[in-house]
Amino acid sequence: MFEHELTDLFEKKLLRQPVVIESSDGPRITVNGKHLVLMCSNDYLGLAGHPALRAAAADAMARYGFGAGASRLVSGSSMAHEELEYRLCRFKQTEAAILYNSGYAANTGIIPAIAGEADIILSDNLNHASIIDGCRLSKARLAVYRHRDMNDLEGLLKKSGNARRRLIVTDGVFSMDGDIAPLPDLVTLSERFDALLMVDDAHATGVLGMHGRGTAEHFGLEGRVPIQMGTFSKAFGSFGAYAAGSHDLIKLLMNRSRSFMYSTALPPAVCAASRAAIDLVEHEPERRVKLWKNRERLVSGLERFGIGSENSDTPIIPLVIGSAEKTIAAARRLFEHGIYVTAIRPPSVAEGAARLRITLMATHADDDIDAASKALGECRQEGLL
Ligand SMILES: *Cc1c(COP(=O)(O)O)cnc(C)c1O
Repeated sequence: MFEHELTDLFEKKLLRQPVVIESSDGPRITVNGKHLVLMCSNDYLGLAGHPALRAAAADAMARYGFGAGASRLVSGSSMAHEELEYRLCRFKQTEAAILYNSGYAANTGIIPAIAGEADIILSDNLNHASIIDGCRLSKARLAVYRHRDMNDLEGLLKKSGNARRRLIVTDGVFSMDGDIAPLPDLVTLSERFDALLMVDDAHATGVLGMHGRGTAEHFGLEGRVPIQMGTFSKAFGSFGAYAAGSHDLIKLLMNRSRSFMYSTALPPAVCAASRAAIDLVEHEPERRVKLWKNRERLVSGLERFGIGSENSDTPIIPLVIGSAEKTIAAARRLFEHGIYVTAIRPPSVAEGAARLRITLMATHADDDIDAASKALGECRQEGLL
């Protein structure tokens, strides 16, 4: 029945299937019995396997059991959920916070809760798929501005006069390119045009800013981004997501977000692990320091082989190849060299912009990074990059 569509995907080299990680110890993994260095995980600080997260989850499981049993507003709200929300707003230095079951659920819950038919959403054209889906669900008028192009955004804001509410939404760190949103200009424009500003800090939380508080901290703009969304699934090594902001915003989200209201709450053990992760992010800044050192080491290693890292400013390093087929070939060659990086293809990126998307972790050793540079250098010599 679906043969035609599947064959089409296969022929275009766009058919995907998960690779099974048979075992892992930080960035050292086994796939098909082969030992590899993992270089495409979002577990930036290496917290996913940390003993403190395991212990917190085990403790919570002993206390609460596993499943939450209902949505938060029915009977699924435990002390573990409340404690995490409280801990998170202390970390983010906002009045309040609300949990969501994933980053995807957060964006598809937050955006339709604050923007509707009478409103306009201004969205960067490289925003994450979950933002795009949130915009679609909202039924608001959508104005997409060119990636990080503030002149384009300003032009669209000038034409938005008849909208009830204006919402500007952006990734803090763009997930496929590793560049950072121009937050100072976004804040200025949002204030000038009386627009709400929402930042998705999925890749920035735990990574950007002196204390890992994200894009607003990185630019010294805390307090001027009214809607901050982020996840526990990346640098925090856990699962789930949040929105942080004013009391009123959070109260509204709690009463309007369908993904919050009509979905079973996160397992309490997951919340406990996330809380342990915030403690580590806050109290062990050396992980963040090492992550950025590792990034510098890879970037300079690649430069020696004449490989540039595009516009990346973060531990996400995209190497854009173009065709899906060539990207798969390069990923396969890296695999043979003991480096695991997936080929990122459309629709995750634009047509003709397939790439290797390397991500660094604080737990990579210098040798891991040097091995990756060397393997990529060989790919370059073989014409694969
Ligand atoms: C990963 C990601 C999400 C989704 O988060 P999950 O917790 O994995 O659902 C949302 N936004 C951005 C920018 C992301 O990179």
